[in-house]
Amino acid sequence: MKAVIVGGGAGGLLTGLLLARDGHDVTVLERDPERPPSDREAAWDSWTRTGISQIRQPHGFIGRTRRILMDELPDLWDDMQGSDAYRVDLRRFAPDPAALNDQDERLQVEVMRRTTFDRLLGLRAEAESNLTVLRGVVVTGLNATNGSSVPTVTGVSTEAHGHVSADLVIDSGGRRTASPKWLAELGVPVEQWSETDGFTYHSMWFRTHDGSYPPDLAGFFGGSAPGLVSLLFAGDTGVFGVAMVGLGSDKPLRKLRDPDRFVEVARRFGPLAGWVDPDVASPITEVMPMGAIQNRSLRFWNGEGPSAYGIVNVGDSVLSTNPSLGRGIAIALVGAVELRTVIREVEDPKTVTTTYDTVKQEQIVPWLWDAVESDRGMRLALNTALGSPTDEPESDRTLLSRASFLDMACWRRWAGVNQVFELPSTCLEDEELMDRARSIAAQAPPPAYNLSREELEAILT
Ligand SMILES: Cc1cc2nc3c(=O)[nH]c(=O)nc-3n(C[C@H](O)[C@H](O)[C@H](O)COP(=O)(O)OP(=O)(O)OC[C@H]3O[C@@H](n4cnc5c(N)ncnc54)[C@H](O)[C@@H]3O)c2cc1C
Repeated sequence: MKAVIVGGGAGGLLTGLLLARDGHDVTVLERDPERPPSDREAAWDSWTRTGISQIRQPHGFIGRTRRILMDELPDLWDDMQGSDAYRVDLRRFAPDPAALNDQDERLQVEVMRRTTFDRLLGLRAEAESNLTVLRGVVVTGLNATNGSSVPTVTGVSTEAHGHVSADLVIDSGGRRTASPKWLAELGVPVEQWSETDGFTYHSMWFRTHDGSYPPDLAGFFGGSAPGLVSLLFAGDTGVFGVAMVGLGSDKPLRKLRDPDRFVEVARRFGPLAGWVDPDVASPITEVMPMGAIQNRSLRFWNGEGPSAYGIVNVGDSVLSTNPSLGRGIAIALVGAVELRTVIREVEDPKTVTTTYDTVKQEQIVPWLWDAVESDRGMRLALNTALGSPTDEPESDRTLLSRASFLDMACWRRWAGVNQVFELPSTCLEDEELMDRARSIAAQAPPPAYNLSREELEAILT
């Protein structure tokens, strides 16, 4: 099959590698012109990836991402191992470590700078036979045979290369993909859904003076104050990112843009104090704010069937969510593997379109609704901490999450969901598990903060 992939981000290149290794003729068209730089520091310092605005935001590569890379792309996995990645072993946070079993080995997260990962991925993609990566090529529309209410896509139009034909067009243009516009130009509708998640993120990067890391005290948790949660992402070569997440409507948090205030808050957050200590590490960036992120989804569906044949989507084009859950690349990989499986089973592009859509609805879209529910719980918790509780009841998801800090059975099942090994419904529809979670959650202590709200505001204002 001849496949053209729109977008050479993580979703596009991972899908391209999987399909090329199955013998398909794959071309990736990427708008950003620059090739992967010569080394990871150059990638961090100067790789221009305008198309991926989050490329310098902290990223973790969660359990399912690791598993798929180990099984399906072992050479890329080996490259990652040679990259000094930092590994967060979630088993260290099990409520009863004596009860850990072999299956829990999967509950680990690899952390490295996203520029480091994308560079390694880009180099692997360039070296792959059957896979052509054309950079600096902007896709401007779709070509299709018409004559029926459901057109068949036959390729894409580009600025630099004219028409590029394909049996299957794979849209991996990310969360701002233009494919809804291109399909509208063909006269067909798509289904889109979105909500603004309501959070604001402030991230800042540091590097330790000796390239090593302080002892891992807290995994990803970097401390909290009422209305503010911080996350710690150790990168590679002594680099680490600190992200602070709160409500966009919480005005004092805007002062976190000031690096001195950001660092001062981090120094007062217990788990981070030993990391951002000036004797241990220095900032290497300004504070990078990010807000108005959306939970959103896109389905090429006209209400009754596919909008068009011969076009599918993967990665953030399908759905993108609150990044705090760190699932985006795992979801992109699950989609890529599912698409490859469908193509193995039903080669005809028309059948691929419909079969893959069904699989996506079952295996991918539930992650959107889980993120939406997670955000609702987080907004409720942050508002309550800020003294503005609402009447909304806590969801089963929130209760299970709380119980997982105290009970091994809840912890193992919930960690399997968080690491994208199991769909959320496998837990939430298990009445026995949920009865247990509800009764344990009722005994959970209230959250303990590293700073009071007064102390936080005194630093910020
Ligand atoms: C702040 C933040 C933190 C995150 N943290 C994590 C994390 O910890 N772990 C995790 O797994 N995920 C995380 N994610 C999600 C992750 O970044 C995305 O899921 C991932 O980048 C999706 O890859 P993609 O290829 O689908 O899209 P993108 O990475 O957005 O790539 C899309 C590509 O398509 C190209 N493109 C678009 N339109 C065209 C066109 N018309 N022609 C040619 N090329 C085009 C763009 O230039 C770009 O290169 C985070 C996201 C954010 C915003």
